[in-house]
Amino acid sequence: MARTDTEILIAGGGIAGLTAALAFGRAGFRTILVSPTPPVTDGDADGSDLRSTAFLQPAKQLFEQIGLWGDLAETATPLNVLRVVDTVDWPPQIRDSREFMASDLGESSFGWNLMNWRVLQGLARVLDGLENVELRFGTSFASMIARDSGAIVRLSDGNSVAAQLVVAADGRNSAVREAAGIGVHTTRYGQKTLAFVVCHPKPHAHVSTEIYNQGGPFTLVPLPDLDGQPASAVVWMNPGPRAEELAAMETAEFEARMSERSCYILGPLHLKSDRRLWPIISQRAARLSAPRVAIMAEAAHVIPPIGAQGLNTSLNDLILLRDLALMAGRDGLGKPEMLNEYDRTRSADIRRRVTAIDLFNRITRSPNSQVQLLRLAGMKAVHDLSGLRQAVMRAGMGH
Ligand SMILES: Cc1cc2nc3c(=O)[nH]c(=O)nc-3n(C[C@H](O)[C@H](O)[C@H](O)COP(=O)(O)OP(=O)(O)OC[C@H]3O[C@@H](n4cnc5c(N)ncnc54)[C@H](O)[C@@H]3O)c2cc1C
Repeated sequence: MARTDTEILIAGGGIAGLTAALAFGRAGFRTILVSPTPPVTDGDADGSDLRSTAFLQPAKQLFEQIGLWGDLAETATPLNVLRVVDTVDWPPQIRDSREFMASDLGESSFGWNLMNWRVLQGLARVLDGLENVELRFGTSFASMIARDSGAIVRLSDGNSVAAQLVVAADGRNSAVREAAGIGVHTTRYGQKTLAFVVCHPKPHAHVSTEIYNQGGPFTLVPLPDLDGQPASAVVWMNPGPRAEELAAMETAEFEARMSERSCYILGPLHLKSDRRLWPIISQRAARLSAPRVAIMAEAAHVIPPIGAQGLNTSLNDLILLRDLALMAGRDGLGKPEMLNEYDRTRSADIRRRVTAIDLFNRITRSPNSQVQLLRLAGMKAVHDLSGLRQAVMRAGMGH
């Protein structure tokens, strides 16, 4: 069995882990990434990630710095307006709606929407040939001994890696986090979300639309045209049993239900992909570091898919971690001064975002008419008070 020395070992080959490998590689660090399976980089392949991500300003800036944006820009759809629609009853009736414009903050766009499989494809292309980054798919983090001088990680294939810094990007059930003895606080809502792609006759006009009724939002996020028709990615949250029923429904009936739920805002919706189900939880790690270990992305925090916060928060973890690594240099990499600063600086922002989205989810999914009135009043207040509107928009944009 072989042992390799490296500066940084990353566990996890999702978008967060692969982006971390690219960022640390570009920053000049010798990096090894381990993950059980290679990324699925074709939208039609089995197991492809049919979610899309609305990447906010800090994420785009990071992608530009690490040479990824050039590969993605052509298929990234700008999101210039966020429309929030409040509905009641079934079929849903629109009570009121508000539009939040990026131009209100002097920006052309809030963010740029990309299919997750497309981002993985771009990452795989750009990482290919980066000499100081080694991608080891087919093996995973198994266990670890952390010492003052570094960490020795044992992999599932029996090999080991000695690293100065171990980065946990191995998802919500992180094995690295567990090996480091870091607990999590988890909230289960009993909700599941469907993620899929639709076409519609009316153009989306770069407007992202969140429609509230009960069970959670129905969100339409603009994509490039598909088969010559306007297209959007949909995230539709529901109580678990209802989500499962919708996932198993015949296509024609499903199309009728989702079109009703969308209030025909973009006309009748046509399903253009499989439907994928995701359980909705909130989760936060008790700490973001342990000796020689930094915890990031879904290993550190899971946020319900409202307001495009999850992966964007993960990329903010990475931006700080990369900057601290550069400041620490080779001698200080993975030492307590660097990791304590990471923990201290990121923890507060993560706590705020997880708490805010948890509260928002509880209010917006409620079937109770009093709570729905509160939701309506909240939407109007946030939009109609310009100071509050701009502050909420700025926070939502990842600043
Ligand atoms: C429907 C939906 C819509 C969303 N929309 C948005 C959005 O618009 N904007 C946004 O910012 N966020 C969004 N999110 C959140 C975002 O999709 C997730 O945060 C993100 O995909 C998680 O990426 P990750 O790399 O942290 O984790 P994962 O994708 O779970 O990757 C973890 C990786 O670790 C690997 N792994 C597991 N165990 C090990 C081990 N022992 N050793 C090594 N590797 C291991 C796994 O195989 C996997 O490759 C959405 C989420 C959902 C559910």
